[in-house]
Amino acid sequence: MHLLKFDPQIAKAIQNEIKRSNSGLEMIASENYVSEAVLEALGSPLTNKYAEGYPSRRYYGGNEFVDVCENLAIERAKKLFSATSIIRRGLHANVQPHAGAQANTAAYFALLNPGDKVLAMSLAHGGHLTHGSPVNFSGQLYDFVHYGVSKKTMKIDMDEVRRIALAEKPRLIVAGYTAYPWKIDFAAFKKIADEVGAYFMVDMAHIAGLVAAGVHPDPMPFADVVTSTTHKTLRGPRGAMILCKKNLAEKIDKAVFPGIQGGPMEHCIAAKAVCFKEAMSASFVKYQKLVVKNAKKLAETLVLGGLEVIGTENHLLLVDLTKLGISGKPAEKVLESVGIYVNKNMLPFDTRSPFDPSGLRIGTPALTTRGFKEKEMEIVGNLIVKVLKNSRDEKTLKSAKKEVEKLTKTYSLYPKLEYA
Ligand SMILES: *Cc1c(COP(=O)(O)O)cnc(C)c1O
Repeated sequence: MHLLKFDPQIAKAIQNEIKRSNSGLEMIASENYVSEAVLEALGSPLTNKYAEGYPSRRYYGGNEFVDVCENLAIERAKKLFSATSIIRRGLHANVQPHAGAQANTAAYFALLNPGDKVLAMSLAHGGHLTHGSPVNFSGQLYDFVHYGVSKKTMKIDMDEVRRIALAEKPRLIVAGYTAYPWKIDFAAFKKIADEVGAYFMVDMAHIAGLVAAGVHPDPMPFADVVTSTTHKTLRGPRGAMILCKKNLAEKIDKAVFPGIQGGPMEHCIAAKAVCFKEAMSASFVKYQKLVVKNAKKLAETLVLGGLEVIGTENHLLLVDLTKLGISGKPAEKVLESVGIYVNKNMLPFDTRSPFDPSGLRIGTPALTTRGFKEKEMEIVGNLIVKVLKNSRDEKTLKSAKKEVEKLTKTYSLYPKLEYA
């Protein structure tokens, strides 16, 4: 490893980040830990190659081996996300989007004209910035209208979605969220989309791993286009992909390149291929089942401890802090001070600002990768309760920090990395 010699400042920062990861509990719902095989592909000389275009149709020479990687990534993505060979035959995959936001940009670019109407979940109720937020290009370029969750159930009310769709006649309906702790009824969305003649797109960034393992309903039979990140529950490199029906393949490919991106990141695409291979294993299915079990156990523990929880049927839950007399920002901060990483989050119908909202979002994918099971989740849950209820008591915080350190000692991350 020459990095340590050539650039000790960067090497040191990487070492410190590994140390931080090792000594803390990562509970940010969108984060995970990739395998060393994925890291190896990511750190490979494939980063050197220009490969504008698609396999066998490149604008540069010398892409023989890059094509091997991208073809494998495409084939594996299709296999991973098609429950039957019939679906697979009608499926197309583009593995070039640099990140989730780019995948969504390309999907909109392929399906919409500027000014077209789109129906999606509001940001405040769990949607993503790229689902029409006014500060995002999507909200400025397209005419977004939003649905939300019901105040009574905190779940999507499909009758309301239908009412809005019938009144607004969108060209595209979007499902898939960043802070929604329930299963999504894709069939019901598809029925509404058909009724109003809209495309149906699913952004499964958060739940792709659960979908791949069959522990969340599958959007593939219903959606025209499915976008996803590869780095959240799917546990691959930072990046994204688009799956679509064959009839939209050309439109989607053109939208990604040359529509919105230049050269693809082939090192990252190779790492996506590795991730898809891992995701086809029996141990991955076991892992995803445990992610969901762990989230349930965590929710149960928090409720027993007196916290108000929204969820959970997937890998994440929302905590309503209102009754504890602490808000999201200081709650995130005090948990960070003992080595527990979560993020503050707006709750549906939140009256506070996004900079200091009423809730926390907590997820189990990373800790489950680390080997935590229900027994450990109960310990972690009780720690969270203790810290949130005694956020000003130095003694409690000190002992919580010690307990976190003890928990993390059993599960070491990346012990074989040279610079770790
Ligand atoms: C994370 C996420 C994205 C964006 O992914 P980036 O890789 O951060 O651009 C898009 N949509 C949803 C629903 C997400 O959760």
